[in-house]
Amino acid sequence: MIQNPIPWPNGAKCACAITFDMDADSLIHVSRPKDGHDRLYPVTMGKYGPTVAIPRILDTYKRLGLKQSFFVPAWCIEQYPEAVEAILKGGHEIGHHGYLHEDPIETTADQRMWFERALDVHQKVIGGKPAGYRAPVYNVNEAVIDLLMEHGFRYDSSLMADDIPYAMKTQDGELYEMPVHWGTDDWPPFAHYSEIGYMMPVKAPSDGLQAFWEEFDAQYEAGGFFMLIVHPFLTGRLARWRLVEKWLEETLNTKNVWFARLEEIADHLDGLRKSGTWSPRVDSLPYYDGPVLG
Ligand SMILES: [Zn+2]
Repeated sequence: MIQNPIPWPNGAKCACAITFDMDADSLIHVSRPKDGHDRLYPVTMGKYGPTVAIPRILDTYKRLGLKQSFFVPAWCIEQYPEAVEAILKGGHEIGHHGYLHEDPIETTADQRMWFERALDVHQKVIGGKPAGYRAPVYNVNEAVIDLLMEHGFRYDSSLMADDIPYAMKTQDGELYEMPVHWGTDDWPPFAHYSEIGYMMPVKAPSDGLQAFWEEFDAQYEAGGFFMLIVHPFLTGRLARWRLVEKWLEETLNTKNVWFARLEEIADHLDGLRKSGTWSPRVDSLPYYDGPVLG
């Protein structure tokens, strides 16, 4: 059961967003700034995303008529213009995902600089401000929320306080949170990356993905919101994507779902509020004034 379920367009039972974070090889450059450029195994593992997986993913989306959201570090926007052009050509959305996938909390001293440098790339290359933001490694602090408010973002997608979209309010304004969680992220089942301290036993495609589909079943039954947070270089690999593609086909054929870009979901929520049909649960920030032990 979900309290306060959202009425979805055309009576759909569940909203679905398969969101891709196209991090490419930014991860190795940011974690090993001195020699990441010369570590060819992680460079190639990342480059597989924009060069091999993105065309494959976009091809599926085009065939099935889906428009989805992608989050791309600005350095990757500059580095992989063909992938970015293809994403935009397909009618998909590109959100802010840092400059070089720097952790916004670890880089607090330069947080604004990196955030705005990335924003400049969006303006220059994509020609507008992104509607949404997802923090690298989900690391958001209140200063990040303040930056989002200051720059007129409509939503964040990094936090975990609900099953369905909700609103976050500060003294400066309000935005939507499109909530994530680790059960719908492909990092735990599929990533194996010793250079950044991530050594997980890689699951079989069917095993790793089965966990996602169980998350979907629960959301579908409750009339909720199902979002995957996945990476082209992980879930866009041949065997995994083959199974995702089959799931998409079957879901579209047998279920009443609304696949949408996150910005479209924000539009829909705005419309519901305007008409007085529904209003979101509101989380007010800050949660705490300081360390809880004083
Ligand atoms: Zn990322």
